[in-house]
Order: sequence, then C-alpha cells, then structure tokens
Amino acid sequence: MNREWELLHTPGPTPIPPSVERAMIQPMIGHRGQKCKELLENIAPRLKPIFGTSGDVLVLSSSGTSALEAAVVNTTSPGDEVVVVVAGAFGDRFAKICETYELKIHRIDVEWGSAVEVAAVEEQIQAHPNVKAVFVTHCETSTGAMHPVEQIAQKVHQDSEALVIVDGVSSIGGTPIDMDGAGIDLLVSGSQKAMMLPAGLAFVAVSDQAWSIINDNPRPRFYLDLRSFKKSLDAGQTPFTPALSLLFGLQEVLDLIEGEGLEQVHERHRVMREMTRAACRGLNLPLFVSDEAASPTVTSIRPQTFEAESFRKVANQEFGLMTAGGQKHLKGEIFRIGHMGYSRPANVLQYVSILEIVLRRLGHEFEPGSGTAAAQDAYLQATKELD
Ligand SMILES: *Cc1c(COP(=O)(O)O)cnc(C)c1O
Repeated sequence: MNREWELLHTPGPTPIPPSVERAMIQPMIGHRGQKCKELLENIAPRLKPIFGTSGDVLVLSSSGTSALEAAVVNTTSPGDEVVVVVAGAFGDRFAKICETYELKIHRIDVEWGSAVEVAAVEEQIQAHPNVKAVFVTHCETSTGAMHPVEQIAQKVHQDSEALVIVDGVSSIGGTPIDMDGAGIDLLVSGSQKAMMLPAGLAFVAVSDQAWSIINDNPRPRFYLDLRSFKKSLDAGQTPFTPALSLLFGLQEVLDLIEGEGLEQVHERHRVMREMTRAACRGLNLPLFVSDEAASPTVTSIRPQTFEAESFRKVANQEFGLMTAGGQKHLKGEIFRIGHMGYSRPANVLQYVSILEIVLRRLGHEFEPGSGTAAAQDAYLQATKELD
C-alpha cells in the first residue's frame, strides 16, 4: 500500500492538515529572539477558549503523559491522599503516576466502557476529608467513554478543598469544556489527538486556586516545574528550547479552528459520533459505550461474529484504513475508530463504506448498504437546522 494512501483513523496520532504540515517546515528561528516571542505571545491567548479558561495555558515540549506527570508533581507531596478514577488505560496511567510519586490513592474502579457516577466521587471525598486532589480522565481513549468532569468538579468543590485535575488529552479541541465555569483546577492535553499536530507538545491549563497550591508545594521538581513555565510565559519565553516546528504548526491549527469556529468544530465532532454510531447500529455491530457516555472523538465496537483483530488486519491490508485495537484486557475484544481533529463527515462516509466491505469478507450478516444509509440519515438529521 502506498504510504500516502493510508487512512489514519486511530484515536491518536491523527492526520495532520496539509496547511499545518506546510507551517511546520518553516525555517528555524532562534528561541530567544523577537520572532519566537511574537509566536509565543500570539499562541498563548488563543489557546484559552479551547480549554474553556481565561487563565494560563502552559505549553511543554513533550508528549501528553508529561502533562499528567506535571499535574501530579506540581500539586502534591509524598503521602498526600488523592482520589483517582480508573475506567480504562489512561485512568490507570494517572494512578500509576500517583503511585510513583508516593501518594496515598483512593482508587475508584469503574467498569471499562462506563462513565463514573458523580456520587461515587462524592462518596470518596466524604469518606476521606484530607484528599488533596481528584484525578479524572475526560475522554477515556481506551474505551471511548466520557466522564462527567464538569459535574464532578462542581461536586468536589461543594464538599472539599481538593483540586480537580482532568486529563483532556483526547477531548480538548473535539469537545466543549467549561474549565472556569465548572471549577476544574488543572486541565491537561497533548498535541496528537484533536489538536491536529504530531506528538510532542503537552498543554497544562491552570486555575488561580491551583497556582497557590503549586507555588507553595515543597516537592522538588525541575523540568516539569510549572512555576518556571509560568514565569517564562509572562516574559514571552519558554524555560527550555521549545519544539519550534510544532509551535509553527500550532499557530496554523489555531487559524484553522478560529476560521471554522470553535463551536462548529465541536459540532462537527458530534456529527461524526452520531454518524459512526448510527452506522454501527445499521450494521448490527455492538457499540461498546452507551449513548450517554459516548465520546465525540472515538468510537469502540465490540464485535460478536468475527475477531476484532481480523477486521483491523483486513481493513488495513485492503484499504489502508488504520484503526486501533483494545488495550489491556480489551485486547482482541474491541476495535476503536478515531474521528477527531482533521476528520470530517466525508471521512466517516468513507470508512463506513469500507467497514461494510470488510464485514462482508468476514461473513458478518447485515443488509448491504444499511450502514452507509444510517450514517447518511444521521448526517441529515444532525444538520437539519442548517437547511
Ligand atoms: C493519548 C493519551 C494520553 C497519553 O499521551 P502521550 O502523548 O502518549 O504521552 C494520555 N491520556 C489520554 C486520555 C490519551 O488519550
């Protein structure tokens, strides 16, 4: 298969818009010069609406996990009690980071594929009044389920002083979030999901309440010390050499998002979710996540009549369609289709049609064309107001 024919529909990395690719090959500049200062000062305020905050959004040159780790090391010290919601591989990663940094973890294990109940978090907060922070994933990419992070943040703040720290790596840029309104304290993300860039940038949005905790926190830290990122940002700088090519790309991403309109970007993701799920129903393909919890950025399917891995293999070999498998105990049980970032309804129609051919090859029974028709209906339904 010609490499450039591949259709990348994994839930990260995601395809890069051509104009972003072009922006990233600009000649290098010095990172202490005026041009870089202008670039950083241009980017900083434009990231804020995407994170739903009027506060700082710090940009680190590292993958998304570094932002998760930065959130942990900057807000906690050894022995602190924390609550971690685990409903998939990324909640589990948050728990592992907390363990590594010697925190006392109250873990809320939720069945993978489900969303946590706000009441379950409330229960833990009431049972452990010394909890310093609650860690929760917004979109659990390993299952495609969204946790109600805004409601959780509101509840936690009613009941306690704990910070609410949210992993938005696969949701930011694809879903609305009201960080300030909900009282989320730290909201972290990465570049290679809905932000349409290669991996290599991490984002940390910080509330005012969180800054006072971060500034007073005695835990030693160096590269991930958010205080130095903040100090540099205020001077139009970064503490260390930034991934400049990715920042050139980010500036173009912001142009694209603003050009389309942030609300329209979110709406496009919602439409892609509806189309994908309608197609699965039309094709008798069991959806792994309920309608209420389904993410607009990734859809998981749990096939009963064929092997998930056979589907992935055939779709890739014949059409270059790249999807993701399950992680941990879901390996071989589900496959995941990413529809975020540089993805649009036209791409959904394409992969649904491919899905139908592969399903026929695998002997899955359905009325040919029923997935495509359902996706088309869902599109028309979702865009009715536009007529
Ligand atoms: C992809 C992802 C991460 C990890 O990001 P890396 O860039 O691989 O370090 C963390 N959390 C979620 C929810 C993700 O989807």
